[in-house]
Amino acid sequence: MNIVLFGAPGAGKGTQSQLLVERLKMVQISTGDLFRAAIKGKTELGQKAQSYMDKGELVPDSIVIGMVDEVLTRLNGNSFILDGFPRTRAQAEALGKILSQRSLEIGKAVFLEVPREELLQRLTGRRVCKSCGAVYHVNSKPPKIAGVCDLCGGEVIQRNDDREEVIVTRLKTYEENTLPLRDYYKELNKYVEVNGAQETEKVFSDVRSALKL
Ligand code: AMP
Repeated sequence: MNIVLFGAPGAGKGTQSQLLVERLKMVQISTGDLFRAAIKGKTELGQKAQSYMDKGELVPDSIVIGMVDEVLTRLNGNSFILDGFPRTRAQAEALGKILSQRSLEIGKAVFLEVPREELLQRLTGRRVCKSCGAVYHVNSKPPKIAGVCDLCGGEVIQRNDDREEVIVTRLKTYEENTLPLRDYYKELNKYVEVNGAQETEKVFSDVRSALKL
């Protein structure tokens, strides 16, 4: 089953997607990761996306939709998780069209619910490995050696858009544009909600139950 995983920045979409990839062999399509890779590779797409990302704003729909459309042509039949897409109603509607052209569909849209206070704590303390993307937290999950990734030895840094002033904009952008997608997927009878403010493994088992996987 193909799924959409959505929720606020810091709700745990990336972490849960990773578990679905490792344990259920699904394919993760993270628009945030794709943009960060494009920025690292200094591509034209990366250049276009960076100014929006640095400010905590959404990259324009036409750019994101074009990118997802292209990625979906390269799928090899595995079930996929859309992580961080769609984030606006226009993106959700475009996704429906793109998928139906390919005789594909979304089975469920999983919303990870996390209270705002918890989101702020998670985002301000979040650190990531520059090389492999592994996620850490200054209090709850620091790397064994400060600044060094446990997994690959890469440099552990704070994402540009995890700075406090940018986080406020990201949360506002999320509330205005992405939160209304709950109603969109409810109308399509695809909406399921999971309490994301629990321990990672418990969230994962709730996600599996909600998807009957
Ligand atoms: P994320 O890693 O999912 O938190 O995304 C990081 C940033 O990438 C967001 O704050 C946006 O600037 C941009 N971005 C990622 N996905 C989308 C999307 N579906 N629509 C617009 N902008 C996006």
